[in-house]
Amino acid sequence: MHQAGRVTFLGTGTSSGVPMIGCACEVCRSADPRDTRLRPSIYVDVPGHASILVDTTPDFRQQALTARIARIDAILFTHSHADHILGLDDIRRFNWIQGGPVACYAAPATWEDIRRSFHYAFDGVTRQGGGIPRIDRRDIDGPFLVNDVRVVPVPLWHGDAPILGFRFGSFAYLTDCNRLDDAAWGLVDGVETLIIDALRDKPHTTHFTVTEALDVISRIKPRRAYMTHMSHDLGHAATSARLPAGVELAYDGLVLDVSVDVE
Ligand SMILES: [Zn+2]
Ligand SMILES: [Zn+2]
Ligand SMILES: [Zn+2]
Repeated sequence: MHQAGRVTFLGTGTSSGVPMIGCACEVCRSADPRDTRLRPSIYVDVPGHASILVDTTPDFRQQALTARIARIDAILFTHSHADHILGLDDIRRFNWIQGGPVACYAAPATWEDIRRSFHYAFDGVTRQGGGIPRIDRRDIDGPFLVNDVRVVPVPLWHGDAPILGFRFGSFAYLTDCNRLDDAAWGLVDGVETLIIDALRDKPHTTHFTVTEALDVISRIKPRRAYMTHMSHDLGHAATSARLPAGVELAYDGLVLDVSVDVE
């Protein structure tokens, strides 16, 4: 069954964010609010069904405040790079609001890194003073349900690292990748709204360039596509002007209406 949902881009920047610390380039000094990019994350809200956060960036607290996020039924982790996990401690507020741990989904290898980075949340030691994030660990080993919302993990290559994208019915979020293999192409078939990594124009070892992302888009043929994880090389207005119809740069705060699958 299809259900209407809303996707909010909480952050659309690369790991350093835009502006970059200490950079005086045109994009980093831009007055266009779409050139200010926090670290990459989305929030998928399906009213009456589930509220899902993808990744907890170092900017998570600010993102949650700006988007007025008051509930998180599940967090899905794409991979364990710092720009995707370091805000995890701030789920303490949601533990408090919701009265329990937050269900967090990740591949087993990602869990190993999260456990090391946030050892204090897993070691069982009771500490005086401040609380710890309370995490309900769920291993991803195939499609799963968050409440009744169906999520399909999509295997992606991020350089040599296997990571995960996620498909929710008619839309898919594929950040931090520079290659899809045969299994992935099949899983994104028929996607109508595609969110895809596009770091910059210059080739990179772990991210798609704008041209490479356009190649992926032309193969998947979504109705509309949005690029994310952009560096300061891509000014919003100038880059948007050279993209084909139906393809846009995402920006922080952009909200999309999408259709997700519920069971
Ligand atoms: Zn990243
Ligand atoms: Zn710059
Ligand atoms: Zn990464």
